[in-house]
Amino acid sequence: MTLERTPFDTLLIANRGEIACRVIRTARRLGLKTVAVYSDADAQALHVRQADQAVRLGPAPARESYLAIERIIEAAKRTGAEAIHPGYGFLSENRHFVTALEQAGICFVGPPASAIAAMGDKSAAKGRMADAGVPLVPGYHGDDQSPARLAEEAEKIGYPVMLKASAGGGGKGMRVVENAAAFQAALESCRRESQAAFGDDRMLIEKYLVQPRHVEVQVFCDRYGNAVYFFERDCSVQRRHQKVIEEAPAPGMTPALRHAMGDAAVRAALAIGYVGAGTVEFLLDASGERDDAFYFMEMNTRLQVEHPVTEMITGQDLVEWQLRVAMGEALPCTQDELAIQGHSFEARLYAEDPAQDFLPATGTLERFHLDLDGSGLTLDQVRLDSGVEQGDRVSMHYDPMLAKLIVHGVDRSAALATLNRALAALDVAGVVTNRGFLQKLASHPAFKRAELDTRFIERYETTLF
Ligand code: ADP
Repeated sequence: MTLERTPFDTLLIANRGEIACRVIRTARRLGLKTVAVYSDADAQALHVRQADQAVRLGPAPARESYLAIERIIEAAKRTGAEAIHPGYGFLSENRHFVTALEQAGICFVGPPASAIAAMGDKSAAKGRMADAGVPLVPGYHGDDQSPARLAEEAEKIGYPVMLKASAGGGGKGMRVVENAAAFQAALESCRRESQAAFGDDRMLIEKYLVQPRHVEVQVFCDRYGNAVYFFERDCSVQRRHQKVIEEAPAPGMTPALRHAMGDAAVRAALAIGYVGAGTVEFLLDASGERDDAFYFMEMNTRLQVEHPVTEMITGQDLVEWQLRVAMGEALPCTQDELAIQGHSFEARLYAEDPAQDFLPATGTLERFHLDLDGSGLTLDQVRLDSGVEQGDRVSMHYDPMLAKLIVHGVDRSAALATLNRALAALDVAGVVTNRGFLQKLASHPAFKRAELDTRFIERYETTLF
């Protein structure tokens, strides 16, 4: 294996908030110079203060700033940044961005455009995965989109089914259909929503699993065809298909199931020529009938919000791996050298009001810090990945996630006790947050017993909100 090294020494981070700060931290540890970009709403933001240099992109709306490909490339050229880390969201899975960077001779810290394209369309991705022998939820992802054909396929799959926008993401353009009588109306509204959100109204149909767990596998590939998996995360605790608390490893996994899912995830990545950090999402049947059945859902071709729980249980820095792989290094270790140590949880702290249907909240953070004094907690047990500091203003322009509280313990119950203590030690005032909701979740008896599935929050709604 001959290495084609392409080192760089200045990295632009095309993102904001906690992930921009997170990437800056590792880049700096590796001796790289960092360039932040910002919109007018973020001129004073923490990621701007932390980077070595910062470049204004434009006004607050994302399409004129964090999504403005030409302005970002211009900023990289102006500051001599040879590489761009996209974070998650924004341009991280935009193949036009990756192609534009290739043309501009700037290194993209992420997979090739072809791999993003292969997974960007859910229908096409399912076809490729079936060819690679990755198990799929029974369903239809064909080209014939006539309502009659779709209804016929739904019948064949058997109700309830889930309609999903082929081009969808972020929980949008999805609907559960209980029976044939409800199918046409659901199809029409799903198509409208998908057309509006993604400019594309193609649908796929899946068997709706009534009680699935969301278990995803972190994979990593280098340019030389080496690939490993970093075990799994359980992200079943979701509200409206959005993750709230994640953990690693997934409770109740047997070594055989872990190995089978890891293998399938690596096969998925290699089938599309993947490079870098990726996540293969699976649904695990938690109905009790078949607790070893797992099905490919999608691959996210970027670093995930919840990557820190994997870092906590493996002792690896995934952003460091991303940067090294982007510089042309081979993976630093083999599958056999990776092992799980203990257990980790992540809770997402949002500026939102659970009492008002989780409406995003704004304001000035009068107090914001993790008060470990007297909590009995130490810094190796608790990590706060934050995009804000005390005194910062929280605007309504972007995703309301303020920070992520990540904990580690020798086992699940120790880690959960630590999560509860850490949530209590988080002192936040001035902006309404979901901290109380997170505390109710983390101390819920059923959560303690690891009775996890994607309807957990819905089931216990009355005691959680
Ligand atoms: P998105 O790309 O919009 O996030 P996904 O396909 O990843 O959409 O699905 C998001 C969530 O929806 C999953 O985590 C799961 O909770 C639920 N879900 C998706 N497909 C199914 C299915 N076939 N049966 C039951 N739940 C599903």
